[in-house]
This record gives sequence, C-alpha cells and structure tokens, in this order.
Amino acid sequence: MSVQENVTAVLARVEAAARRAGRRPEEITLAAATKTQTSDAIRAAIAAGIRVCGENRVQEMTAHLADNAYQGAALHFIGRLQTNKVKQVVGRADLIQSVDSLHLLEAVEKYAARLELVQDILLEVNIAGEQSKGGLPPEEILPLALQCAELPHIRLRGLMCIPPAPPPGGSSRKFFSQTRQLFVDIRQKMSDNNRQVDCLSMGMSGDFEEAVEEGATLIRVGTALFGPRPPLAG
Ligand SMILES: *Cc1c(COP(=O)(O)O)cnc(C)c1O
Repeated sequence: MSVQENVTAVLARVEAAARRAGRRPEEITLAAATKTQTSDAIRAAIAAGIRVCGENRVQEMTAHLADNAYQGAALHFIGRLQTNKVKQVVGRADLIQSVDSLHLLEAVEKYAARLELVQDILLEVNIAGEQSKGGLPPEEILPLALQCAELPHIRLRGLMCIPPAPPPGGSSRKFFSQTRQLFVDIRQKMSDNNRQVDCLSMGMSGDFEEAVEEGATLIRVGTALFGPRPPLAG
C-alpha cells in the first residue's frame, strides 16, 4: 500500500468512528507520527494530504527542518523533551505536545520569552500512572494548567496521553475517557482562556478509532500510514 492509500484508508476509519460517536469528522486532525521516516517519506505523506507531522526526536526534527521536509504541514513535537534541548524546539514546533513537568514548562517559557513568541503546548498526562513513562499524574494537571495561564509566553491548547498497550483483546477506552474528562475539567476551570484549550491528542495506529469515539481531536498515527518501523526505533 502507498502512503496515499494508507492516508485514505485511515481517514475513512476516522470518519466512520466519528459518525458512530455522533461527531463531525472535521473535528479530528490526523497527525503523521514521522519518527524514523526519511524526508522523502514525509514529503509523500504531505502530498497525500497530511497537514500535521509529529516528531519524537530533536535530532531527526532538526535534520528534516534543514531538508525543508515539513513544507505544507504544521510541525508538532510529540516525544520526550529534555530541558537542555528546549532551544531546538521552541519556536520551531508549532505545538509541543509533551510538556510533562513544571521544570520543562518554565524552560519553554523562558526561551519563548527570549524569542518574543508565544509557544503553543499540550500537557502530557500519564493517565495510567505508569512508572516507566513520561507524563504528569492526573492530579497535577489542573494546577499546572492554571500555572500556564500565568506564563505570558505559553498558550495551553489541551492535553495529550499515551495509554499503556492493552493486553490482547483489551482496550484503552477507559484511559481515553478519563483523559477526556480531565480535558473537560480544565476547559471549565480556565474560563477566560478555554476557547484556546481545544486539542485532545490521543490515539495511535492500534487504537485511534476508540480514541475518536472517546473525544480525541487529534490522533497521532505512524505505522498505519508508513508501515512497520525498524525494531528499537521507539
Ligand atoms: C510512534 C508514536 C506514535 C504513533 O505510533 P503508531 O503505533 O506507529 O501509530 C504516536 N505518538 C507518539 C508519541 C509516538 O511516539
């Protein structure tokens, strides 16, 4: 299957899932998770209609930017971000989806201030409380969201989550539903700012239909668009 055929097939599944849930398909953005892909593969995805690319690694992102590979699409950073690499991402990524500590938030604020820009971010929630994973515990989301409102160079756009891989035959639905509830809570509590809190990023190749049914506005899909990645590619 070509990337074009895969994009068409994924969009058809998104549309069907949206209709099942009584949602409009236009509410959902398909982001291509481009880790390990070549600049040419990224260009082919954009030519096939992809309008958002999500990168995990600063080094790959920097190389693709130098190649102009993302032209025609927005660029999101979706991987773990170390504070010492913030300068390579702030102002380059349209949205940093993976802010998962106060320390990182403050580093983004500081560098965005230096560049005199406002950086769009999502807070990443560790919705299943997994030890090994990034993301904030659910109870820390609201306090940090309120803190974002005090930072002049940060614009909080919503939440991102990566639930644990379910056991065979299992489902991530309850984690998607819990993340959506948190999203609704912060929208309510950030009253003045809630019009800009509009992004709920959840769902990958194996579970994006459930995520759409549970309210995702952005899904991050790699394998279902590009095929399997080499092992250990993260
Ligand atoms: C790799 C990755 C994805 C996409 O995973 P697939 O299962 O290949 O669709 C989505 N989100 C993040 C944060 C990723 O690292």
